[in-house]
Amino acid sequence: MERKPRKCPVCGGEIVDIIYGTGDMTEPEFLLEYRREGILGGDNIPRRPPIWACACGCKRFRKVNPDGTDAPVKVKMLKNIRKRPLTIIEFTTANVEEAVIARRFDDIHHYRIYITTEYGERETLRVSALDERDARDEAVVLVLEGRFGLRGTRCVEMTLKKE
Ligand SMILES: [Zn+2]
Repeated sequence: MERKPRKCPVCGGEIVDIIYGTGDMTEPEFLLEYRREGILGGDNIPRRPPIWACACGCKRFRKVNPDGTDAPVKVKMLKNIRKRPLTIIEFTTANVEEAVIARRFDDIHHYRIYITTEYGERETLRVSALDERDARDEAVVLVLEGRFGLRGTRCVEMTLKKE
């Protein structure tokens, strides 16, 4: 490919960048911690590295010059990737999922939750929930599961703002 393809020629899927230097991180971990799409290339960078891949992983692409020779490329390294804010994801409680199925849309509220962990790390989450308590419970579990790349697993401080 001379430039990033718009769609995968095999399956029609979205094309994303391959990120190297990712150790044994998994793609779901990367998505939750960095809030970006990408295929993880691990730590071994091939001599002629592919730099794009289909989001489903079915095919990888190298950048070539118009004459078909390898184009010089700079691979994307995890250490240079900026994390996007966690607030681009809206988490949904199980109670809200039930409310959606029952079409009780008026019961669903949206909260912005400011948390501080036992290590003093601050993070902002967006949660749709039935009420403040439902939203707090969700935030506590999300932090406990340690899915955001935070060291802390406990919320020592939590402030809610209804949106
Ligand atoms: Zn594909």
